[in-house]
Amino acid sequence: FLTKENDMTSKKILIIEDEKNLARFVSLELEHEGYATEIKDNGRSGLEEATSKDYDLILLDLMLPELDGFEVARRLRKEKDTPIIMMTARDSTMDRVAGLDIGADDYITKPFAIEELLARVRAFFRREEHGHAVERAENTSFRDLVIDKTNRTVHRGKKVSAVIDLTRREYDLLLTLMQNVGDVVTREYLVSQVWGYEEGTETNVVDVYIRYLRNKIDVEGQDSYIQTVRGLGYVMRERK
Ligand code: CA
Repeated sequence: FLTKENDMTSKKILIIEDEKNLARFVSLELEHEGYATEIKDNGRSGLEEATSKDYDLILLDLMLPELDGFEVARRLRKEKDTPIIMMTARDSTMDRVAGLDIGADDYITKPFAIEELLARVRAFFRREEHGHAVERAENTSFRDLVIDKTNRTVHRGKKVSAVIDLTRREYDLLLTLMQNVGDVVTREYLVSQVWGYEEGTETNVVDVYIRYLRNKIDVEGQDSYIQTVRGLGYVMRERK
């Protein structure tokens, strides 16, 4: 059993999943790693739990009775920004999960090896702590984009009020690129910096998030802020 002391410092994870065996398995594995978990088996009760209590992370299934994962995420985001890892089948909905800006911080495709999920969760919390610890209070800019690291916001030019609304991942991705202006940044590097994943992880997620980011920061009729370097990665630099 966990000691009381451990219990009190445990990160709390809410699992919203209607496949009971999977939910129980994931819960047991997470608790074995020292996390505290709670399971809800439909979208409505999951949303209610997530809204009324404070969790450090939510594992959210996409296909759920009563309210699906998209709807749970959308409604939750109106209330609070508890991080979400979406769990979805590897099919056409995967691209919707990625392509729609539903406010999920990450996604994992089913069926997944439990080790993969645990690695994601660990990476997630490591990134959280790391990210806050290394941040310095200064601004970084490229063209008219300015990152305010103190407030973790991005705005254009001098209009500090014109904040571009980015998710946590999009912000971290942009920050990493802007800290390396002029240098090509590989997908592998971005995956390790932004997602905290180990080497060898799939890097497709980077392309998906670059697409989101461009949708938000780019201005119609102008070159994208972020250039693709085929086969390598991405770079923010002026075209010569
Ligand atoms: Ca399901």
